[in-house]
Amino acid sequence: MKQNIESFLAMVTSRNSHEPEFLQAVEEVAETVIPYIVEHDIYYGKNILLRMVEPERLISFRVSWVDDSGEIQVNRGYRIQMNSAIGPYKGGLRFHPTVNASILKFLAFEQVFKNALTTLPMGGGKGGSDFDPKGKSDNEIMRFCHAFMSELFRYIGPNTDIPAGDIGVGTREIGFLFGMYKKLRNEFTGVLTGKGMSWGGSLIRPEATGYGNVYFAEKMLETKGDSFKGKNVVISGSGNVAQYAAEKVLQLGGKVLTLSDSGGYIYDSEGIDKEKLAFVMQLKNEKRGRISEYLDKYPDAEFHKGKTPWGVKCEVALPCATQNELHEEDANILLKNGCICVSEGANMPSTKEAIAAFHKAKILFAPGKASNAGGVATSGLEMTQNSLRYKWTREEVDNKLKDIMSDIHKSCLEYGKDDDGYIDYVKGANIAGFVKVADAMLAQGIV
Ligand code: NDP
Repeated sequence: MKQNIESFLAMVTSRNSHEPEFLQAVEEVAETVIPYIVEHDIYYGKNILLRMVEPERLISFRVSWVDDSGEIQVNRGYRIQMNSAIGPYKGGLRFHPTVNASILKFLAFEQVFKNALTTLPMGGGKGGSDFDPKGKSDNEIMRFCHAFMSELFRYIGPNTDIPAGDIGVGTREIGFLFGMYKKLRNEFTGVLTGKGMSWGGSLIRPEATGYGNVYFAEKMLETKGDSFKGKNVVISGSGNVAQYAAEKVLQLGGKVLTLSDSGGYIYDSEGIDKEKLAFVMQLKNEKRGRISEYLDKYPDAEFHKGKTPWGVKCEVALPCATQNELHEEDANILLKNGCICVSEGANMPSTKEAIAAFHKAKILFAPGKASNAGGVATSGLEMTQNSLRYKWTREEVDNKLKDIMSDIHKSCLEYGKDDDGYIDYVKGANIAGFVKVADAMLAQGIV
């Protein structure tokens, strides 16, 4: 078995040697899925995983635009169309200076499994640009988004590829992107998700990833007869996912102790309550400020510059910022402090070594491809509403989201149970996602 995994990884590494994040994501999947393939004749000898690690299409393009001072700026745009076996490509756009092919390929690869887990008919893709939205004026953001879409529109469509938001891409950016697509194609269609409520968006979509992560963690806690009530919760990030994860934790009776951004983290020993969270939402979403400004309003809190929050004592940790933000030493501190549950809101926030530490300690650990799938699932619900030209109520969408998170949890239980009864959610999510996509690929032949 070890040899099978090693020779597979050696082949993938030789082809993608400059893509560490992508290789990290592939390794995690290979280690759990290859043993399953070897035990199941229908998948064995078909090179399915080798086909799955190769994007169906990788598009890279120039984005030229003019900034407020009249300077011409050039960025690089991408769209990775990873796998369309079970539906049109679906996955977010990320605008961040660290964006490159490796990061987008890791995200697109994860997205294939995640989308399969949602039970909705969506293939996997991801895209974005090395454009940094921080410090840009609204007009600069608009010009960049328009320039980006003036190329991307050739490759996407409501039955082909339906992008959404991710880091640096929220409703404002989706609006500018949608406006340019509509102008170029002369059609009003559900080609993007995360749209505003008056132009085709779905209720609960902004909340969905954060809420879904907490619903998933709640399901995990239930397997131990436990709940969020009275739990101390440490959250990283202060963007879309972190904000709504915090909101749901509060609704379920937990205490949120931290939030962060790339400048550092805030620790409020009294808890970040509803009113304080409303302040954070206004600070981050309207004023586009820094999390350190929390102390201007709540001076009793602490700000830890340049640090991540994993040293704060808690029972539940929700990493909701970015990839590789939680390392082995952080995992060990969390465990030492009595953490019993880690549920990833971000994509691949925990390193391989950190996950190994959680598994060794046999605590509840959910990988992002299962626990943050609520965002794309609700994007899928937005697509359905667009096709029906109909709008479900907040309650209807929230109930569907809860059901989907519960179904994903069930799939993880089905495929992730170890001999001693421990639920390995990484194994469960990887195999459940693989089976669905692999079955479709087998049915469609070698294409
Ligand atoms: P946002 O842009 O709204 O927020 C991102 C947050 O993470 C900000 O607080 C940001 O701080 C922080 N952050 C970003 N990069 C770093 C870094 N290198 N170091 C420390 N902090 C960082 O993004 P989202 O909340 O939408 O996304 C967060 C994570 O969740 C990502 O991994 C994303 O892929 C994943 N995700 C998002 C979904 C969605 O629906 N939005 C769906 C599924 C997964 P700063 O402002 O300083 O950069």
